[in-house]
Amino acid sequence: MDERQELQYNFDTVRENIRKACQRSKRPENSVTLVAVSKFKPVSMIRNAMACGQTVFGENRVQELCGKMEELRDEEISWHMIGHLQQNKVKYIVGKVDLIHSVDSIDLAAQIAKEAQKKGVIADILLEVNVAGEESKFGFSVDEVMNAVEKIAAMKGIHICGLMTIAPFVEDPEDNRKYFKKLYQLSVDIGVKNIDNVNMSELSMGMTGDYEVAVEEGATMVRVGTGLFGSR
Ligand SMILES: *Cc1c(COP(=O)(O)O)cnc(C)c1O
Repeated sequence: MDERQELQYNFDTVRENIRKACQRSKRPENSVTLVAVSKFKPVSMIRNAMACGQTVFGENRVQELCGKMEELRDEEISWHMIGHLQQNKVKYIVGKVDLIHSVDSIDLAAQIAKEAQKKGVIADILLEVNVAGEESKFGFSVDEVMNAVEKIAAMKGIHICGLMTIAPFVEDPEDNRKYFKKLYQLSVDIGVKNIDNVNMSELSMGMTGDYEVAVEEGATMVRVGTGLFGSR
């Protein structure tokens, strides 16, 4: 198989798995967006993925993201920033990406809001939550999220669209179900408060190892890299 065929097979498989997980949880089949995580992969591969009908791509490093956006500027691609974002890099992506999944501090949100106001745009963001409380991970703790939502919601130029989490690396995806349930519940708890400028419609959770469980627990976006593009 050449790369194009291999990618087609992988995209078909992942999309079918998402479809089945939606069926199991009685959700509409189009309620999940597949974010193809193309980090470390060349632009030629992204073009092949586009030939498989993929339009949403996620990157985790600003420099790589900007390089790819520039090379693919004539394409209809929706770019998502999914990795830890340093405040001094915010200016390079605000107004260029459709969604920042990884807002992990109030200061970072303030910086994004400031840049968005400067450019006259609204930046759509998700708040990253460290649901499992892992030392090594970025994100708000479960206890901090509500306060963060209230503070960030008051900022101009920014719109909170939901929550995101990176679950622990596990052998058995079932081990992460409790964290996905927790993030879902958190988004419901925030949603019922009806805070101005806050919408809890998106839940970005699930990666190659656990996206089916995440969909069963309510993910509206799954971020899949290895399962589509192979190992990095
Ligand atoms: C790399 C990455 C992914 C994709 O991981 P895979 O296990 O390759 O699917 C998802 N989310 C984030 C934040 C990442 O950095």
